[in-house]
Amino acid sequence: MERFVYADNAATTKLSQPVLDAMMPYLTEEYGNPSSLYRFGNHAKRAIENARAQVAKAINADPFEILFTGGGTEADNWVKELMYSLKKKGKNHFITSAVEHHALIHSAQRLEKEGFEVTFLPVDKEGRIDPEQVKAAIRPETGLVSIMFANNEIGTLYPIAEIGAICREAGVLFHTDAVQAAGHVPIDVKAMNIDLLSLSAHKFHGPKGVGAFYCRRGIPLPSLIDGGAQERGKRAGTENVAGIVGLGEAIRIAVEEMPETAKKVSAMRDRLIDGILEKVPMCRLNGPRHDRLPGNCNISFLGIEGESLLLRLDLAGIAASSGSACASSSLDPSHVLLAIGLPHEVAHGSVRLSLSDFNTEEDVDYILEKLPQIVSTLRSMSPLWEEIQKGEVAFTL
Ligand SMILES: *Cc1c(COP(=O)(O)O)cnc(C)c1O
Repeated sequence: MERFVYADNAATTKLSQPVLDAMMPYLTEEYGNPSSLYRFGNHAKRAIENARAQVAKAINADPFEILFTGGGTEADNWVKELMYSLKKKGKNHFITSAVEHHALIHSAQRLEKEGFEVTFLPVDKEGRIDPEQVKAAIRPETGLVSIMFANNEIGTLYPIAEIGAICREAGVLFHTDAVQAAGHVPIDVKAMNIDLLSLSAHKFHGPKGVGAFYCRRGIPLPSLIDGGAQERGKRAGTENVAGIVGLGEAIRIAVEEMPETAKKVSAMRDRLIDGILEKVPMCRLNGPRHDRLPGNCNISFLGIEGESLLLRLDLAGIAASSGSACASSSLDPSHVLLAIGLPHEVAHGSVRLSLSDFNTEEDVDYILEKLPQIVSTLRSMSPLWEEIQKGEVAFTL
């Protein structure tokens, strides 16, 4: 059988068997409505509250502070709702970064169109933000700062505890999009002074379409979806019981296994990065060499189109992605790769390979066997590569 290597775990992960097992009763016999008063509905209610406690424990929050959503994007959109209510108190300035996920970038752009002041903090060559940048950007009318915990494209980790301390000191709310980080790196909302946080189950072997929004007790949170009394009346609608149970179980397992998983996955990632850099001339690693998400590897190859590389990798049975999930449907290079200063041509030749604990050393071997061959074939067909070789085009990596 043809080999299939799934190396796009930053886009989504495989649902794990124990998570499916935990969900199964709530997709079958336990179909009661959690809001019902009879005991049958109460089973579902209890399962939801158990999951809420599991999510809370994973990030050192209180169960009261966890609200279930329909995923990471929806949780991020709650930030916009908060800005609307902060504006009524004269706080119409929002600070975020240039490298956020589209869920936040597009929310911020919407706020900007609606008359809010928005600061998009720039990043350095490795995608990093200095906490001092955040401090310097805060004004009297700043309501909220939103900086991601870890970058979904290039794996950069952000100094969340330092930024949290700065925001707390300044009396400004701090949100972090932890969708790539939750279940992969340690998160402690109390120690890190995080007020608000988004996470999503399908990034750590849970089901798709379910996530959570953490909101620190005491912060007045406007409702996101009006309707019934579910989720304290702030996110109405009959709960996705099986999904929520899956989220709870997935994060419990991810956090319990994190020390081993992080060690195993980052070792595979390092072997992948070192192998590619060694076997392929004229390529560059995007994001920091060491201080990055355990599974993330993002590389730009001079003289080729990332899309052609992805198609050839697919034919070889390797599922990877270009810098961003949306790049395949648009010709614009990734906003993250441009923000770290890559020229358009270099950004276009980029590929993200993201590993999880479901990958094996054999997967890494297979990528290291196929990818350099494919790059070399594509380069042999590329007029751009020819010009680069002749020195007619000056490129910096
Ligand atoms: C995947 C992702 C999201 C979106 O989460 P969904 O559950 O797919 O809506 C948001 N932010 C980051 C950083 C992500 O990686």
